[in-house]
Amino acid sequence: MILMNALKHINSHMDDLISDLQSLIRQPSVSAKNEGIEECSILVKKLLKKAGVKSEILRLKKGVAPIVYGEIKSKQNPSKTLMFYNHYDVQPAEPLDLWDDPPFSGIRKGNKIFGRGATDDKGELITRIKAVEAYLKTTGDVPCNIKFVIEGEEETGSAHIDEYLKKYTRKFSCDGVIWEFGYVDAKNRPIIGLGMKGLLFVELSVNESIRDAHSSLAVLIKNPAWRLIEAIKTLRDPDGKILIKDWYKETTPLSKNDLKIIQNEPFDEHVFKKEFGIKSFVGSKKGLDAKKALVGDPTCNIAGFVSGYIGDGAKTVLPSKALVKIDFRLVPKMDPKKQVSRLKYHLKSKGFSDVKIKIFHGEAAARTNSSHPFVDQVKDAADKSFGTSILNVSNAGTGPMYSFVKILKAPCISIGSTYMFSRIHSPNEFARVDLLKKTTKCMCLIMHNFGIH
Ligand SMILES: [Zn+2]
Repeated sequence: MILMNALKHINSHMDDLISDLQSLIRQPSVSAKNEGIEECSILVKKLLKKAGVKSEILRLKKGVAPIVYGEIKSKQNPSKTLMFYNHYDVQPAEPLDLWDDPPFSGIRKGNKIFGRGATDDKGELITRIKAVEAYLKTTGDVPCNIKFVIEGEEETGSAHIDEYLKKYTRKFSCDGVIWEFGYVDAKNRPIIGLGMKGLLFVELSVNESIRDAHSSLAVLIKNPAWRLIEAIKTLRDPDGKILIKDWYKETTPLSKNDLKIIQNEPFDEHVFKKEFGIKSFVGSKKGLDAKKALVGDPTCNIAGFVSGYIGDGAKTVLPSKALVKIDFRLVPKMDPKKQVSRLKYHLKSKGFSDVKIKIFHGEAAARTNSSHPFVDQVKDAADKSFGTSILNVSNAGTGPMYSFVKILKAPCISIGSTYMFSRIHSPNEFARVDLLKKTTKCMCLIMHNFGIH
């Protein structure tokens, strides 16, 4: 009955959800340019207050975006705590000329609300605030303790989330985290994500001479591009297997339960290939192997390679330097620091001590055990509010989930309202009203399931 009242409240208060989302979109909050960050954090605090959630603005030091923290204690069940992790910052709106309306207009056209952040992550945030509000307004209570951690640097890489989590470990302690976003596929099925891969981003370079030379001198002067190609050729075989010693040492195979989930996950190979205009996958993978790779295979990817002349026509030049950017996706139990030293050792032992290594980013993978009861609670909520849902053992991408798992020791699950083609990070980003409504209800059901178990 209590749950039913909360769900009814959502039905009759969608206009309020939409206008609050519009006001959030209309407050630019571009972390990359430090534009409107303080103002947006104050607005978020106001929305929490309106929902009946006690909140405060947490700070680390000058120049770091504040975290908006909200908390509400449950009277009926104060022993369990659910955290909503979100962010109030957005990506830059550029290129501006590709938007049909001003990027911070929040304009509604039928089922869509347009604007930078409409989905990522202001749309996601509003569903969670309104779910809690629905409970508080109809019953004066929530089914479990709720904590909101809403950061302002996600779009620039969450540089300080680790520090915040360490400083406020006690305050943020919880039994489960609902991650900042969740995809909904083209058939309106929400994808419940149980993990994310890690990432190691490096730059390798070779400087051979102090200046470019006439290419006739290639008989005497070594070419750094050849040198770098030779070095990176030793990193990986053509099927994608990484050849660095001990690269896979700590990794463990997918569990039986994981494999079952992967088997059930829809993946249309044909559509996927058509989308990218490709004929085959790496290592000629097919069917289940392709799905398993998305979930559980590490990668060594050349993100960019620069050397010499790449302008129009011909230029017979012998470049003085060559540079490659490489990203490695990591899977659970791979420690980015360890992998870096393995990479360094590899290059040295293969005779490439002259290749310089610069590390840009290291982040470990995180995965919630698919047999954890939290998974069933979220799945049940998603099935009830959307009619069906898809479990995904790990997203092929990367996010700071590991920090939460490691420091708070709580399972993390991503579920949300982000329609796959909602153009997040691109011009004309939009949120779908029907999905905002279903997701808000889903959040109520998650709180309910989490509270009663
Ligand atoms: Zn984003």
